Amino acid sequence: MDEEIDHAKIGLKAGLEIHQQLDTKTKLFCKCPTTLRDKKESTFSFKRYLRASKSEMGEVDRAAREEAKYSRTFMYKGYDSTCLVENDEEPPRELNQEAIDTSLEVALLLNMNPVDEIHTMRKIVIDGSNTCGFQRTALVATDGWLSTEEGPVRVDSLSLEEDAAQKIEIGTETGTEGSAVGYSLDRLGIPLVEIGTAPDIKTPEQAVNVAEQLGMILRSTGKVKRGLGTIRQDINISIAAGARVEIKGVQNLRLIGEIVKNEVLRQLRLIALKEKLNKRGARVEHRIKDVSSVFEATSSRVIQRAGGNVFGVCLRGFSGMLGTEIQPGRRFGSELSDFAAKYGAGLMHTDELPAYGITEYEVGRLKSAFDATDDDCVVIVAAERARAENALKAVLSRAEDAMRAIPEETRRALPNGSSAYMRPLPGAARMYPETDVPLVEVDEQRLHTIKTNLPETFEHRKARYKERFGLNDELADKIARNVNFSLFERIMELYKNISATLVVRTLTDTVTELVKEGIDVERLEEQHFVDIFEHLAADAFAKEAVPAILKFLAEKPEMSVVKAIEEIGLSANMAEVEQLIEVIVNAKRDFIQAKGARAVGPLMGVVMKELRGKVDGKVINRMVADKVKEVLKEG
Ligand SMILES: [Zn+2]
Repeated sequence: MDEEIDHAKIGLKAGLEIHQQLDTKTKLFCKCPTTLRDKKESTFSFKRYLRASKSEMGEVDRAAREEAKYSRTFMYKGYDSTCLVENDEEPPRELNQEAIDTSLEVALLLNMNPVDEIHTMRKIVIDGSNTCGFQRTALVATDGWLSTEEGPVRVDSLSLEEDAAQKIEIGTETGTEGSAVGYSLDRLGIPLVEIGTAPDIKTPEQAVNVAEQLGMILRSTGKVKRGLGTIRQDINISIAAGARVEIKGVQNLRLIGEIVKNEVLRQLRLIALKEKLNKRGARVEHRIKDVSSVFEATSSRVIQRAGGNVFGVCLRGFSGMLGTEIQPGRRFGSELSDFAAKYGAGLMHTDELPAYGITEYEVGRLKSAFDATDDDCVVIVAAERARAENALKAVLSRAEDAMRAIPEETRRALPNGSSAYMRPLPGAARMYPETDVPLVEVDEQRLHTIKTNLPETFEHRKARYKERFGLNDELADKIARNVNFSLFERIMELYKNISATLVVRTLTDTVTELVKEGIDVERLEEQHFVDIFEHLAADAFAKEAVPAILKFLAEKPEMSVVKAIEEIGLSANMAEVEQLIEVIVNAKRDFIQAKGARAVGPLMGVVMKELRGKVDGKVINRMVADKVKEVLKEG
């Protein structure tokens, strides 16, 4: 998977959308606290049914319509810390003023223009994540920017939104049509700041940097929630020959670079797949066949569990394609599986069969049921007819897309940096005014107060670093926008004789290099860096050794810097070791001539004694043996 891709050349465009929970005392539209609860403490629950009438559905977009196909009954869990507003039994109250102030503060830090009046709008959501069927959102500011090494990135919009209810497991409670989807109301209504950048990001590294800067700005206000799940990032990605895809739910910042890389890879692989399919004259047959009889005597548990019901389709010319890897850990078959999974069905295909207890003989019979040749791929689903047909129809439609273009879609981030299909890409959300919430005017006085109390901006910090540490423009900018800026200040404060340039380079470039080498720098703690510079300030080693020491400590974070210097110091000095061996061997030439190869053992003892066991004996043995061989050859 490690192919070098020139992201600029293939026209990568990416934009970020960040959702950050604010640490306000109360929720956005009611006076309930913004604390998450142990779900076991729920004091009541109620059910809602989604009955989307045709006229209503006409107003929602394809993504919402798609969602409506799957689930219709929702079960909500409430608490003694939620009220009738969350239940949608009372109208929302006025916008939370504390949340408005914080969002204005963030907007000013992002060089944005606040709006004159903040209007609350409704955005339809029909996945049940909001009891009222829409999410309330209010535009606060527009047209800002962030500076990065690769150029400016525009910040299009900043909105204040209510967080959605949190999806939870509700066990076996069922609604009238299949099982209900469960939601917890504690999260519903927590204020969120949503920041959207323009698609100005051109490399995976730049995406990470922009996310880092946005995170730093949000945290610098001291008014945002911290910890897992309090910040969620979505990434829009496209390449010139591909399609726009939105990847949702990235919680780990470090993963953003991987996600961008892997999506580019997926699109490039899908383009190659399309060309191959077209060259082969592949086609999709829209004929779903009941092939249960093929598996009448099967010992496959998957099929037995489905009551022996098996349905299938034939993808002509698709042989080998479903097994093609398109992202780390994902094949084209996984993409098709995502679609079947939407209907609660798993699929199997002849690229991977025999497997799952299905025999070679059964595969043969399956293929002949479709008159399939070796170029074709048969896809089957073991489930009752309605479910299997829905799943296979979705698979057929995705397979057809594979021959035409990359579909625009919303995907879900996976923990390894790959992603899975979620739903079609939504169109521009239609907004309706929320008439229950009065507008809020943003007056000059309010902005003035916020402006005079802003935390330090990147620009100010940069100027301060240039002045105080004599950094050049490039380095001052780099560290001012880096998440490690406070560590930089701490080290400079502690060790006055250390070069600021070296500290900046170490905290930025060296760390980036180590990441590229696949080193897990997350294991390095601030104290590791502080210790390294303490020893460097005391001339314990040369500055060239810093990357090696960091690498060592990332692998063995429990080790001390002293230990690292000891271990690395020696292995880096193999030239000296070799010299030592040469001296000893030369002094014992006569002994070697007399003993031959048997001289290695005794010589080893001499050398090891000299090095006091600090170098691996195996390495020394090989070096001594080589030298002895040389001497014997010379005669
Ligand atoms: Zn409430």
